[in-house]
Formats: sequence, C-alpha cells, structure tokens
Amino acid sequence: MTVADAVRRAVGAVADPELRRPIGELDMLRDISVDDGVAHVAIALTIVGCPAADRIAADVRQAAASVDGVAEVALEVGVMTPQERQALTERLRGGKAREMPFGPGTLTRVIAVTSGKGGVGKSTVTANLAVALAARGLAVGLVDADVHGFSIPGQLGLVAPDGAAPQPTRIDDLMLPPVAHGVKVISIGMFLRRADGDRSPLGAVAWRGPMLHRTVQQFLTDVYFGDLDVLLLDMPPGTGDVAISVGQLLPNADVLVVTTPQTAASDVAVRSGLVARQTGQRVIGVVENMAAMALPDGTTLDLFGSGGGAAVAAALSSEGHEVPLLASIPLSPTLRKDADAGIPAVLAHPDDAASQAIAEVAATLAATPRGLSGRSLPFRPQ
Ligand code: ADP
Repeated sequence: MTVADAVRRAVGAVADPELRRPIGELDMLRDISVDDGVAHVAIALTIVGCPAADRIAADVRQAAASVDGVAEVALEVGVMTPQERQALTERLRGGKAREMPFGPGTLTRVIAVTSGKGGVGKSTVTANLAVALAARGLAVGLVDADVHGFSIPGQLGLVAPDGAAPQPTRIDDLMLPPVAHGVKVISIGMFLRRADGDRSPLGAVAWRGPMLHRTVQQFLTDVYFGDLDVLLLDMPPGTGDVAISVGQLLPNADVLVVTTPQTAASDVAVRSGLVARQTGQRVIGVVENMAAMALPDGTTLDLFGSGGGAAVAAALSSEGHEVPLLASIPLSPTLRKDADAGIPAVLAHPDDAASQAIAEVAATLAATPRGLSGRSLPFRPQ
C-alpha cells in the first residue's frame, strides 16, 4: 500500500458528525496524493457552510497527519455538485425514492406515546424513556408530534445560541435530526421561528388538519434517522387530527398511554387508547404518572389520588389481549427540575424514584419483541 493509499484509508474513516457515517462511504473524498511528505487531500462536503465542516476538516487533517510518511497536510475543502448530493441523499434513503420508512414491514419498533389530556407528563415520560433506551445501547429516534404543546427540545437541552431550538441541517430535501443524549430528535419547535426570534408556538396553533398531516408525514419521510431500533412519537394529547394521521401513516405502531392516577384523567386516556386501536395500532401498556410521592417524614403525598393507571389498563384490555400497567411514576420535583434544565432525570438523577420507574419501563420495552398479537385489523372508512 502506498502512503497515498494509507492516507485515503485513514481519511475515509473520519465520521461525518451529523450523518454518523465515514466520509469515505459518503463519497466525500476527492483527489489524494502524497508528494515529498506533503499529503494533498481534497474533500467535498454536502453543502456550503455545512455546520459540521470545521470538525470534519480538523478530523481529516489529524487522520492524514497520523499516517507514517506524512509530515504536512494540505487540505482543500470543496462542495458536492447537486448531482453528487442527489446521489448521496438517494443512498442515505437506502436507494429508494422518497418514501416513509417506518410503515408496516419496518424493522424499527414504533411507539406512539399518547394521553387523554395535556399536562399529565407525557412528554416528560417520552423524553426520559428515549434517553433510557439509548443508554441501553439502542438506536433511538424521537419525533415530537405534539405540534401545539411541543416541549421535547427544551427537555433534551436542544437549545441554539439564540435560545430557540436548533434548526436541522438540510441536504436538499433530507433533514438531519439534531442528536441529544444519544437520541435523534425532530420537533416542530425546530421550524417555528418568528422574525423577531421569538420561539413562541403561536404559529402552530392555527394549523389545521391537512397541514398537520403533511408535517408529521414530512417528519417521517424527510428526516434521515438511519437504521433505528426504536422510534418514539410524542403525540399531542387527545384524539385529534395528528392522532388520526399517525394512525393512518403508522398502523403498525405500538401505543403507550400515559395517565395520572386521577379518574377524570383516566376516562379521556381510555378514549385515546381506543382511537389508536381503531387504526390497527396495539396498546402495549399504560404508564401512570404523578402518583403518590414518599415524603422525607415517611408519609406519602397523594396529590392526584390513586387507581387511574390500573383502571385505564383494565378498560383497554380485551379478551386475549391484556394491557399491562407498566409503571407508576411518583411525583418528583427532581424529574421536573431536570426536564427544565434539559438533562432528563434518568441520566441526571438515576437514583430518583421516578427515574427508576421510567428505567424499568425502558427495560421492559427493550426486552419485549414487537408482535402482532392483540392487533386488530385496521378500520378503514369507505
Ligand atoms: P404533557 O406532555 O402531558 O403535556 P409534560 O411532560 O409537559 O406534560 O409535563 C407537564 C409538567 O409536569 C412539566 O412541568 C413536567 O416537568 C411536570 N411533571 C411531569 N411528570 C412529573 C412528575 N412525575 N413529578 C413532577 N412533575 C412532573
């Protein structure tokens, strides 16, 4: 092997930090030669001003310099042609034209996390569950489909210097999801930006069904998640347009219902579970959140009563398909504070009782294969 071959091999192994693949595989290498100890290395990046450019350039320099026989590196950074970029996005999509990779037949386990009403801690549970699954070594994606009440970017600490959620990098029509705590994340919050920089979600409130449907579909089709073990969807509460869209796009999804122990919350939670089932989705479990909390003096604080989780699980169970109550997560100031600080409690405070309850759900989900049992046939209106 010549020195130039060795340089090509070393440089080709450098990973693109956003695409998470070696740049050699991504066809980013151009001419490489070694002259009198000087390695001339040319690479082509996806887009001008690619945010990862500095990092790639530094890694390429270092990789080339580490090769025996190289005393100096002359690096030339160019940009792919539109044709090269198109070839790359097609390759990233697995050689297929634009299509949604998470529908029936996918090897990714798709889990939609839903609740009857807002404020029950659905997003908090979803964010913690996602990082807990990633910490177990699974490749995890998270789609924040809670278009009216998105909170996932903040909970995962995805904040750009201007205080808004970072915008995903685009390679033509392919979007690269930001990664937080090992989870690839896409959220409507990353696209709403008003001229004054205010990131208020007001813009989304007026959105109607078709626009919401397109947005969710675009998240599932145009975001490059790569091969995922698990895709979590943080659904908006209730049984509105997004629930129906996701039901149609992902009839293969498993559904996790989050409720508080309060009976008033559990009634609506049952309804959202039933709607999911009508589209063929399978309710795989109920998570009760904001349950009684043990106080330092040994007493318990039972703010929202008890029994809601078990009641929802019983109501969603049918003959031959028992829906389990997967966990009862206690009220926890730590869980809330860590969510506000952008580091999920399962990472920041794994010993907290709420973190442990969520980690158990992650362990259960990681251990149970997805199956077709208990799946009803999709209901299709004529
Ligand atoms: P949802 O997604 O259901 O609207 P969120 O996840 O946004 O709800 O949670 C609502 C609020 O409750 C947040 O401030 C969150 O930090 C807090 N919260 C969620 N779960 C708990 C819990 N177990 N203990 C204490 N606070 C919680």
